[in-house]
Amino acid sequence: MSQNVLVLNCGSSSLKFAIIDATSGAEYLSGLAERLSEQSPQVKINQQGHKNVIKLNAGAQHQKAIEVIVAEIKHRELVSDLIAVGHRVVHGGETFTGSVIIDQDVIKAIEQNQKLAPLHNPANLLGIKIASDAFSDLPQIAVFDTAFHQSMPEHAYLYPLPHTLYQDSGIRRYGFHGTSHYFVSREAAALLNLDIDKANFITAHLGNGCSVTAIKNGQSVDTSMGLTPLEGLVMGTRCGDLDPGIIHYLTSQLDYSSEQVNQLLNKESGLLGISQLSNDCRTIEQAVEIGDKQAELALDIFCYRLAKYIASYLVPLGKLDALIFTGGIGENSSLIREKVVKHLAFLDLTIDESANLAARFGQNGVIASNQNGCRVLVVPTNEEWVIAQDAATLTESI
Ligand code: ADP
Repeated sequence: MSQNVLVLNCGSSSLKFAIIDATSGAEYLSGLAERLSEQSPQVKINQQGHKNVIKLNAGAQHQKAIEVIVAEIKHRELVSDLIAVGHRVVHGGETFTGSVIIDQDVIKAIEQNQKLAPLHNPANLLGIKIASDAFSDLPQIAVFDTAFHQSMPEHAYLYPLPHTLYQDSGIRRYGFHGTSHYFVSREAAALLNLDIDKANFITAHLGNGCSVTAIKNGQSVDTSMGLTPLEGLVMGTRCGDLDPGIIHYLTSQLDYSSEQVNQLLNKESGLLGISQLSNDCRTIEQAVEIGDKQAELALDIFCYRLAKYIASYLVPLGKLDALIFTGGIGENSSLIREKVVKHLAFLDLTIDESANLAARFGQNGVIASNQNGCRVLVVPTNEEWVIAQDAATLTESI
């Protein structure tokens, strides 16, 4: 029987989709609806190398995009093979510790968590609603970015703020990128022939958003993102950790509004803010090659702060079996991987330079190791496959 799942990742102005075989991970179709609600929205579709672009009318929104995607899936005679629709949902709060079949209670709970992710959860809910109408015969499954981190202990997830803010308003650390940290840790255990329930890893997901997670005996025990994805590492346009006093300084001394502070910290900081050039790591690396000092500084701060986080996670882990790089930067930037491993000199890791250079464009590999059996790996992530797998497993249970 087919195990094909339609995976939907509905963002505020874009929508990624794919049809994935939950057993093998094979992707039959993938695509992106982008610039939704803008002047020139479009849907890009790639069916096993055959690509086409469908232009939508100006201002077209998610509803129209999903209609086009559904029509394309039907036209390509792929619907009868589908067993479920899997939705990526950003914030599951404390309600969801794993993936679930969507019903009215689940929808209500996602709505209740909306205030924690005001940009993301409404878009995710819209995707769920439109897909439920379009595929009313198929089970709809929600897979949460936060769920994997629900195993964090209290001392890792609580902020040192008045406890009532947690009790009354849910202000705590939740963590994100959970499906990616989960996936690469399982892949790494298989690659290294380790029992995941006994393996200790640090996983660094470095994409436009970046987060690092401490995984003890297969479970997340700490992660760098917090109440929102702004905490932690330097990212493409997000600042990561700061002195919170800066916010008061900006508003009281420099007349920033709360909205302007939010914009500054989320959209104008990180690699872009320091380099004054780009949020894109490739552009920054090219600028470093031709001697751009601000670009070099951006990479130095990025790597130094990442290495400090990795080192700090030896506190909850004690023993480390592997450090794993993933995400667009982690999977491709041999320069950043090398700089980070050099900062971790106390681990006595020896870099295999040719393996480090070779691990890119979807290739995994062991790029460094030490005499205690600790290794550094590159493992390409595949969040869509996790969503397809969870959707297939839950569908079987119905
Ligand atoms: P998202 O978080 O949006 O899923 P990705 O995981 O695709 O993002 O990561 C995007 C980042 O990966 C960008 O900063 C991009 O420059 C970086 N990246 C992609 N390919 C390379 C490469 N060959 N070398 C360095 N950085 C790369």
